[in-house]
Amino acid sequence: MITANRKLKVILAQPRGFCAGVERAISIVEEAIRIYGPPVFVRHEIVHNKRVVDELKNKGAIFVDEVSDIPDGGVTIFSAHGISEKVENQARLRSLPVIDATCPLVSKVHKEGQHHATKNRDVILIGHASHPEVEGTMGRIKGGVHLVTNIEDVKNLQVRDENKVAYVTQTTLSVDDTREIIAELKEKFPNIIGPDVRDICYATQNRQAAVRNIAGE
Ligand code: SF4
Repeated sequence: MITANRKLKVILAQPRGFCAGVERAISIVEEAIRIYGPPVFVRHEIVHNKRVVDELKNKGAIFVDEVSDIPDGGVTIFSAHGISEKVENQARLRSLPVIDATCPLVSKVHKEGQHHATKNRDVILIGHASHPEVEGTMGRIKGGVHLVTNIEDVKNLQVRDENKVAYVTQTTLSVDDTREIIAELKEKFPNIIGPDVRDICYATQNRQAAVRNIAGE
């Protein structure tokens, strides 16, 4: 418990707050409400922040888990996390008016994975199961993706050809944890192709570095 006269030192990390991808997605929702009028339907919470989500709800956004929760003709916004082809097709089949707020840095990872798949490489995704970004990325790469979350997963991994393997990563991972997994992958598959930790977006890396600096103070 904090007593009334106890002094606390508050250190603000720099940078902090929302990344550019989330700011962009929030603006897209606000603009969509302004242009088309409420309600607009957003698949997945645009950001894990109750205050922002509540503000957008008050303005006329309705957050849904699935495209099937959106009524016919409802203006549909896909969150910054990105979506699988299956979800995109569900919206297309119903001719829903779609605005895609997928962060360009997530789209970049999709493209990397798709490129490796066209080269007939087994694609490994380092990420967390059931995270919306991971679901989207896995659903964008043809031929299947091996999801690894930890060193143990790497040890158990079986691929078609050990010389034709590539990896991509979720954009919001711990840089340190990911480095360890990549090192394990490189040991197991010396010819593996990948982006090092560069798929982890600059906003995530900068914020982790800022917290590390504070912890060192
Ligand atoms: S990839 Fe980075 S910038 Fe884009 S939404 Fe995710 S955390 Fe934000």
